[in-house]
Amino acid sequence: MNLFYRILLTAFTVCILNLNAQAATVHLTSAMQGNQNAIESENQIILTFGNDFIVIREDSAPILNGRVLASDIPLADLVVLRDRRPMDQRRGYRILYSRAGFRLALVTNPQELSNHPEIELFPITESRVILKTMAPQRVEPDPAVTALLAMLRTDTYTAYLTDLAPDTTTRYTCSPENQTARDKIRKHFTDLGLTPQFMDFKAFCGADCDRLPGYNVIGIKPGTTRPQEYVMIGAHYDSTSPVACSLAPGANDNGSGAAALMEIARVFSGVNTERSVAFVAFSGEEEGMLGSKHLAKVLKDMGVLEVIKGFVILDMISYYRNIYGIIAEGSDHTAEQAAVLDEMAQLCTTYTPLKMEITTSYGGSDHAPFLNYRLPGCLLIENEWADYPYYHTIYDLISYQDIAYSLDVVRLATAFMATQGGLLP
Ligand SMILES: [Zn+2]
Repeated sequence: MNLFYRILLTAFTVCILNLNAQAATVHLTSAMQGNQNAIESENQIILTFGNDFIVIREDSAPILNGRVLASDIPLADLVVLRDRRPMDQRRGYRILYSRAGFRLALVTNPQELSNHPEIELFPITESRVILKTMAPQRVEPDPAVTALLAMLRTDTYTAYLTDLAPDTTTRYTCSPENQTARDKIRKHFTDLGLTPQFMDFKAFCGADCDRLPGYNVIGIKPGTTRPQEYVMIGAHYDSTSPVACSLAPGANDNGSGAAALMEIARVFSGVNTERSVAFVAFSGEEEGMLGSKHLAKVLKDMGVLEVIKGFVILDMISYYRNIYGIIAEGSDHTAEQAAVLDEMAQLCTTYTPLKMEITTSYGGSDHAPFLNYRLPGCLLIENEWADYPYYHTIYDLISYQDIAYSLDVVRLATAFMATQGGLLP
């Protein structure tokens, strides 16, 4: 977005529509079209999705180069949401516009949406930037980072994914098969010399399942000069589906992230960093981020939250259809949190061909508990996660994953860990 738009959009953030207005018209226009007319009126709300602007006005006058998405609708029925139900269960609204998992929608059945744990609603009360497209200038790559990225391998990544996510398995939090996956990750960390530890927590699984506790698996690679400071990379290894107790292969969600964690641990086990690096395989994510909430609370209760100087969470990083891109989802509550998103965008441009979008509307994965405690970090998630047809179904299989795409996301996460960890040549 150019400076002109940035200034105007900021200026209009203070303009708030009358929410009791009878009717609203919703327009779509694009920054690419240099559309001044779209932003000249005062009585409007502008929602920014990358280069797209959604302009919501009380009057129905057309805007230059704009397209009407809906006219004469009650503004109170308009919502921005993310829906984490399996695709065939997503209802209760009509989609007007969607991008990177965010949907601008008209509510058709309020009952269906209210207080649903798998639906996040973002209020439309004022102009706001929901997604920002990031394309900073490429900088000269760090040779040590480039060398580390060259150690990442498709075959080992694929082997970890295949081992964790066979088509016929589940890794549902309270199942015995979840503990099989847990033990595989622990053995991997042990083999790499990462002194693994289990951290168990109480899980709340369905009555038709075993009621085993959940376990996070933690591996540590101590830092050389600043071992008391940590950078953390995390990914949940549990999975879900409508029949999660018996079958939930979860190749994309989140075998892809867990395999990435294992691959990144493999390359870091052979290098030195100034800071300590913590590798965390979370469980219980699908039950409400139980494992990550537990770890965040334990660290807080111990008074050592601040030892985490940066973190990245990987969740769903292997599906790509039309947009070769990645979403970095974080917070701007602190300057350090905002800086992480800028840094991630810079690394993305420098070391990968991925197109990055950032958002500070966060939730729904293991980054949330740490961001809530104001730690600097973010989630990386595939741009098209909401369009993945097998999301949270028994068909989330390895054969639908794009391993080459996944490796680019792994490169980004590795570059982040190397930079934050202080990779030594
Ligand atoms: Zn997930």
